[in-house]
Amino acid sequence: MSFKDLKLIKPLLKAIEASGYTEPTLVQERTIPVILEGRDVIVSAQTGTGKTAAFALPILQQLFDKQDAPKRGKKIKALIISPTRELALQIQQNFKNYAQFSNLRSLVIFGGAAIEPQVDVLKKGVDILIATPGRLLDLHKQDYINLDKVENFVLDEADLMLAMGFIDDVKKIERLCPEEKQTLLFSATIPYKIEELANSILKNPERIDVTPTQSVAQDVSQVLYYVPKRRKIELCLHLLRNSIKGNVIIFRRTKFGVKKLEERLAEKGYRVDSIHGDKNQSDRQTALNKFKNGYVKILIATDVAARGIDINELDNVFNFDMPNQAETYVHRIGRTGRAGNIGNAYSMCSADEKNYIKTIENYINVQIPVEKEHPYPLDPNAKPTVHKKKGSKYKKGRKSEASKKKKKRWY
Ligand code: AMP
Repeated sequence: MSFKDLKLIKPLLKAIEASGYTEPTLVQERTIPVILEGRDVIVSAQTGTGKTAAFALPILQQLFDKQDAPKRGKKIKALIISPTRELALQIQQNFKNYAQFSNLRSLVIFGGAAIEPQVDVLKKGVDILIATPGRLLDLHKQDYINLDKVENFVLDEADLMLAMGFIDDVKKIERLCPEEKQTLLFSATIPYKIEELANSILKNPERIDVTPTQSVAQDVSQVLYYVPKRRKIELCLHLLRNSIKGNVIIFRRTKFGVKKLEERLAEKGYRVDSIHGDKNQSDRQTALNKFKNGYVKILIATDVAARGIDINELDNVFNFDMPNQAETYVHRIGRTGRAGNIGNAYSMCSADEKNYIKTIENYINVQIPVEKEHPYPLDPNAKPTVHKKKGSKYKKGRKSEASKKKKKRWY
């Protein structure tokens, strides 16, 4: 199938060609015609499948079709809600790109950035608004945003929206839009709460399941290393030196973990940057740009900060900590092996994370290949480390000299 078969109009085909896309991805093939018919859709697709274009192109086409007014009154006609700033920025990048041969104007708004420049653009008028929920409601309350003319309403990464506690905000935003509109919901997974949300705001939607949530891109080669927790840093350095070629995103569970690892790798001379919740938007964006343009080859991230970010040609994903949710594993490793590239997913598992592996393997229905040949193997009988609470009876008394000399732990 070609983009022409999808009945896309010339200015869009030109922009698609300029982007270097030769044929639609599966989600585009299945979703674009349904959106062009004006139907509501629930699409279960992960980042990396081309889902942004799957809604951006038909929305733009619908807006193009309405270009009969000689001077477009710039009223917000398409509203896209995104859970994170990074994703919001990427969505706008997509819209800008596909709308390059038109007069359609888009704006992205999110918290943590100065409000005035966003207000200035809003005052001039935009056709397409991409927003995180909090900032949108904030600007609406201040009367800078009018959603009365919204015709296309998109919820992207709805499951993350749920995880981040935005569902009530999303419902509020939906009520600010006209009743008559097309609603498109995209989510990597469709948990019960999302199903409920969809039932309450979508009208007779078409369901499109492109990638079953459990499926891991076939172009990702996975490998698992069992390693004692305190040896993870050494194994990480060993793999960076000997196995990992190209760029890599290293995932850690906590901000604290991200910062510690960043310090340690920088000490070892690696050019590295990070994104986590303690960084402001502009620092996160700088880190992302440095990684995207190849200035740093290693980016360390927490899940929430990294969710949805689109980096072309990502060679490797490295799970320094195993995620405790199978879906998170799928999301993390879904970042590599995208749009036809081959990727590698390295995972390190310590004794206390073994249970997560079982859950993940059940979820993805695949056994992750284990690499036993490495310098820091985990004793198969090793018991999970028990972290004693401060002040517990086990802690009382003086520390032995040996324990004082113990190396710093890696968490
Ligand atoms: P997304 O799932 O929207 O984050 O898209 C993932 C990546 O695929 C982005 O870098 C897009 O630019 C790219 N992409 C989208 N559609 C196509 C296509 N039809 N052919 C090749 N790459 C695409």
